[in-house]
Amino acid sequence: MPRLGVLTSGGDAPGMNAAIRAVVRTATSYGWEVLGIRHGYAGLIANDVVVLTARDVGGIIQLGGTLLNSARCPEFHDEPVRRRAVDTVRRHQLDGVVIIGGNGSQRGAYDLAQSGVPVVGVASTIDNDVFGTDQSIGVDTALNIALEAVDRLKTTASALQRAFLVEVMGRHCGYLALMTAIAGGADAVVIPEMETDPEQLIADLQAAADRGKAHAMVVVAEGARYNAEQLIDYFHARRDRLGYEIRATILGHVQRGGAPTAFDRLLATRLGAAAVNEIMAGHAAVMVGVRQGEIAATPLDEVVRNVKTLDLRLLDLARRLAT
Ligand code: ADP
Repeated sequence: MPRLGVLTSGGDAPGMNAAIRAVVRTATSYGWEVLGIRHGYAGLIANDVVVLTARDVGGIIQLGGTLLNSARCPEFHDEPVRRRAVDTVRRHQLDGVVIIGGNGSQRGAYDLAQSGVPVVGVASTIDNDVFGTDQSIGVDTALNIALEAVDRLKTTASALQRAFLVEVMGRHCGYLALMTAIAGGADAVVIPEMETDPEQLIADLQAAADRGKAHAMVVVAEGARYNAEQLIDYFHARRDRLGYEIRATILGHVQRGGAPTAFDRLLATRLGAAAVNEIMAGHAAVMVGVRQGEIAATPLDEVVRNVKTLDLRLLDLARRLAT
C-alpha cells in the first residue's frame, strides 16, 4: 500500500487542521496509508510518527492549532541532521511527504526535496509572506481577529477621545497590518516595506484631531522599523503635540488562536487535497497555493528564491481613505 507522510512546521496557523484532514481523507480515499509526523521537522528527525486514519481526523476542521503539533527546529539547517530525517522517510517507505507551513518550512521542504524525498509544500502562515500563493492558510482568520480588536478599540477610543496604536503580527511582512488598516478604517499604518517618520505620524494624528475626530487609530506591523513599543515611547515624550492621549495594544499570538474562518477552512481543504493529487501525479518539489482564484503549484526552488512583494497601491488606498 502506498504511504504518505504529513507534518505541520513553524508558526501554527488557523486552518492547519483542516489541511491535515484534507490530506488524510484524500489519500485514504485512494487507498493510501497516511503517517502523521509530530512536531514538524523535529519529529521527522526523531522518528515521531503516528498512523492517521480518516476517522482520526474527525472533529478537527473547526479547530485552530494543529493536531500534529508544530515546532521550530533550527538543527534542520544542518545537512547531517537532515540525513536522519531522510532515514525516517526511508524506514517507513514513504512515497511522499506533505509539509504544511510558512516560508521557513518551505525552505526546509526544498532541502528535503534536494535529498531525493518527494515533497509537496502547502502554504500556511498568518504572515502571508510565501511566494507562489496570493494567500496562505490562516491569513484570513488572523485578519478577522485583528479587525475585531480594532473595532472594539475604536469604541473605547471614541468614548475617551484617545488614539490607539495597534500592533499586529506578520514578521517582516506588512500584509496583515495593511489589510487591517484598510478594513478597519485606520488613520495611519506603519509597515516594514515603507520608511516611517514618527514626526509624520504625529502630524497625521494632529490633523485627525483638528478635523474633530473623536478617536484615531494607527496600525503597526510588528516587523516595522519602529514597533508599537518604540512609537509609544516617542509619542509619550511629545504628548503635548499629539492632540490625543495615546495607548498601545499589542495583539500578539491572540491572532493565531481560535477557529479558522470559512475562507481558511475552504482554502486549507482545497490545498490539502491538491497536495495529495500532486504527489500522486508524480509532481514532487512543488508547493501548492492559490493564484488568481485557482489552485496552482509552484516549484519549491522558485518559492525559496523569490520574495513575495506587497502591492503598495494598497498603501495609497489606505492613505487616501484616511481622512
Ligand atoms: P515558518 O515555516 O512559519 O516560516 P520558521 O521560519 O520558523 O517558520 O521555519 C520552520 C522550520 O523550518 C525551522 O525551524 C527549520 O526547521 C526549518 N527551516 C527554516 N529555514 C530553513 C532552511 N533555510 N533550511 C532548512 N530548514 C529550514
